[in-house]
Amino acid sequence: MRFSILPLSLSLMAAACSVPEPSAQVANEAQDRVTAILNAGVRTQLGEAKFLFDPLYDNHFGSLAEMDDTLIEAIISGDAPYNNVDAVFVSHAHGDHFSPEYFNRLMAAQSGIQIIAPEQAVADMRAHELWDEGFAARITAIALSNGEAAQKFDVAGATVEAIRTPHAGWPERHSDVHNITFRVSATRASGELVRVMHMGDADPAKQHFTMNAKFFCCARTNLVMVPFWFFREEDAGMLIDRTLNAQSAVGVHVPVQTPAWLADSEWKHFTAAGQKAEIPAFETAQN
Ligand SMILES: [Zn+2]
Repeated sequence: MRFSILPLSLSLMAAACSVPEPSAQVANEAQDRVTAILNAGVRTQLGEAKFLFDPLYDNHFGSLAEMDDTLIEAIISGDAPYNNVDAVFVSHAHGDHFSPEYFNRLMAAQSGIQIIAPEQAVADMRAHELWDEGFAARITAIALSNGEAAQKFDVAGATVEAIRTPHAGWPERHSDVHNITFRVSATRASGELVRVMHMGDADPAKQHFTMNAKFFCCARTNLVMVPFWFFREEDAGMLIDRTLNAQSAVGVHVPVQTPAWLADSEWKHFTAAGQKAEIPAFETAQN
């Protein structure tokens, strides 16, 4: 076990943080970045694999970006830049991260695609009229309790580690919702390791992460995608760099009306589809 002590990383992170400029989506994207879809949705190319996280949802709860039909159909059909997707990750079964209908349609439309999702989301898919038992073989259902050791498996040449991290509002709200943090590691063609993490609607209280301290301290993450409220924590820099052991972060799940404190901060965050966050190389060799 090893804790990284990197005194320069906080100042480097601050220097690297700025509100991203919108840029055009390109089909042949570079491997070293993640690209915003909407809300907590992102796509990324890691090594040989292309992954989506929380890409399809059907409830914007009045404050989040609404998915339009063109975008929904492009993701379901696998039109560029959503073509050749190997797997789709679902953090939890809330309507602003997931839609049983859209996921069933995605599985029907793309016969090679896989889904990695909490068992609660899979149950919602099964209960929907578009469910087909033939989908089951391409679904990895995650069933974990808080603090339980990571579920670990390989998908499309990448290594996936899943832990359950309580949903924001814990313990008063949503404590029964299984919110999954996914850490995905892959090897680039250059042989370099690349690792990203998506945390869904995780609650930022440190106790949830110290509960899984062994998980976080054993591997440094190049880029963590956190719900924007992580940046409101008093010691957000420490939370990301030390507790989560991540070199850089990008905020997702930002409402259409960006909170003033976030807009005024130096934390990088997505506010529109197509925005990109670089996945920086590790400062030191990792394994
Ligand atoms: Zn939620």
